[in-house]
Amino acid sequence: MKDVKTIGVLTSGGDAPGMNAAIRAVVRAGLEKGFKVLGIMRGYNGLINEDMVEMDYRSVSNIINRGGTFLYSARSLEFKEDAGVEKAKETCLRVGLDGIVVIGGDGSFRGAADLSRKGIPCIGIPGTIDNDIACSEYTIGFNTALETAMDNIDKLRDTTQSHDRCSVVEVMGRHAGHIALNVGIACGATYIVVNEIPYDLNDVLAHIQKSRALGKKHFIIVVSEGVTDVYKMAKDIESATGIESRATVLGHIQRGGSPTVKDRVVASQMGWKAVELLAEGKSNRVVAVKDNDIVDYDIAEALSMKKTIDMNLYNMAKSMSL
Ligand code: ADP
Repeated sequence: MKDVKTIGVLTSGGDAPGMNAAIRAVVRAGLEKGFKVLGIMRGYNGLINEDMVEMDYRSVSNIINRGGTFLYSARSLEFKEDAGVEKAKETCLRVGLDGIVVIGGDGSFRGAADLSRKGIPCIGIPGTIDNDIACSEYTIGFNTALETAMDNIDKLRDTTQSHDRCSVVEVMGRHAGHIALNVGIACGATYIVVNEIPYDLNDVLAHIQKSRALGKKHFIIVVSEGVTDVYKMAKDIESATGIESRATVLGHIQRGGSPTVKDRVVASQMGWKAVELLAEGKSNRVVAVKDNDIVDYDIAEALSMKKTIDMNLYNMAKSMSL
C-alpha cells in the first residue's frame, strides 16, 4: 500500500450549505495527519485544468458558518467522457495526488468511481440538499434547506391566511420528496405532493374540500419539484373550488444560507472520516450516516441502493392535515 502524502478536496454538482464545513474538516484532518492538502477548484474541472491551491490551517478560517462552497462547484461535461477522466488522472499523477475527497451528489460519486478505477483513490461525501443518497440517512445541506423552506412558507402562510387563499408551493428535491414531506409537515400543509406517490389532482381537491367543510379557510399545498406545473395546479384548484389560488416556486433560495448546527456537525464528522479512510489506504468509498454513526460503503454498492420516503410519516401527515 502506497503511503498517502498529498490529498485533494473538491465540491461538485449542485451546491449545499455545509459544504464549506466539510472542506474545512478535510483540510484540518489532512494537516493533522501531516498530509499536504490541495483545494481543487470548480469540481472535476479543477482536476482537468490543474486549477488547485495548497491549503493551510488558515485557508479554511471563517468558512464554517458560510453557505455555498468557497472552492466553487461545477457540472463538468468533459469529465463525463473517458478522455476527461484520463486528463484528470494525468493531473493527479503529475501533481502527486494520492487521494481525493469528492463532496457532492450521486453524479459526482459516479465520477469518483471512474477516477478510482483508474487508480486514483477517491472518497465521496454526500453533499446535497435533497437527502437523496440512498446509503446515507442524512446528506449535508438537507437541514438548512428545510429551515429555509419552512421560514419562507411560514411567510407565505401569513398572506395566504389574510386573503383566505390557497398557496401552492414548489420546493426542491430533484426526484425525491424528502424536502416536501418534512417541510409540509413542519408548515402544516393541507396536502403534500411527492415524487414517490402518483399525483392525483382529484385527491388534492377532495382533501381541500374536506378540510373546508371542517372550517379551514386557507390552504397550503407543498409540491416537490418535477411532479407537476404548480402554476397550472393553482389555476385548476381555483377553477374547481372557487378558492383564490397562487403558486410560488421557492427555487434556488433553498440552496443558500448559513448552515444549521446539524449540517456543520455532520459535515465536520464526514470530512474527518473521509481523510481517515484515505489514510487507511481505502478507495472508492462513500461516507454515510447510519443509526447516528458515521460509516462507509463501496461506491457501486451505494449507488445501487434505493431510498424511498417514510410512508408512515406521509400517512400521518395526510391524516392530520384536514
Ligand atoms: P450531483 O453530484 O449533485 O449529483 P451532477 O449529476 O451534475 O451533480 O454531477 C456532478 C458532476 O459529476 C458532473 O458534472 C460530472 O462531471 C460528474 N458526473 C456525473 N455523472 C457522471 C457519470 N455518469 N460518469 C462520470 N462522471 C459523472
